[in-house]
Amino acid sequence: MDPYTIFADIVAGRAPASKVYEDSDVLAFMDIRPLTPGHVLVVPKVRARSLSELDPEIGAALFRVGQRLAAALRASEVNCDGVNFFLADGVTAGQEVFHVHLHVIPRTPGDGFGVRARPTTPPRADLDYLAASIRGVLRRAVPPS
Ligand code: 5GP
Repeated sequence: MDPYTIFADIVAGRAPASKVYEDSDVLAFMDIRPLTPGHVLVVPKVRARSLSELDPEIGAALFRVGQRLAAALRASEVNCDGVNFFLADGVTAGQEVFHVHLHVIPRTPGDGFGVRARPTTPPRADLDYLAASIRGVLRRAVPPS
């Protein structure tokens, strides 16, 4: 896969961005095509195309910064009555830029943002079956200490 992404260029300072926050691990900047005014992206400075390539510590840092941004958005001049986090991991999930990024999206009533999905109502047995399958993978991947 092409190692280039525009976010790597932004992190390296080779492409312009309206920066909001920066530390040694994370950069946050305004989305160039905001879904609502004030839409911010939080990216790791280290290159990771997907969650599977991302160091969990850096993943935690993304969330920490997202949480701070959510509070900052509410207190800023951005119209913000609520906040959605969104992260697309993989083409099927809608990922377009292959450098992990957390969307922090300010919300106001009637802003038009939404996730198109219908909740389903599976029987408990189906939920239990899938829960057991996921638990099994977790046990194999991260043995309890
Ligand atoms: P994805 O669909 O991968 O979750 O989201 C990619 C996001 O990156 C989109 O919201 C898009 O507007 C944003 N984006 C794409 N190119 C640029 C760019 O050059 N600069 C900035 N600031 N955002 C970008």
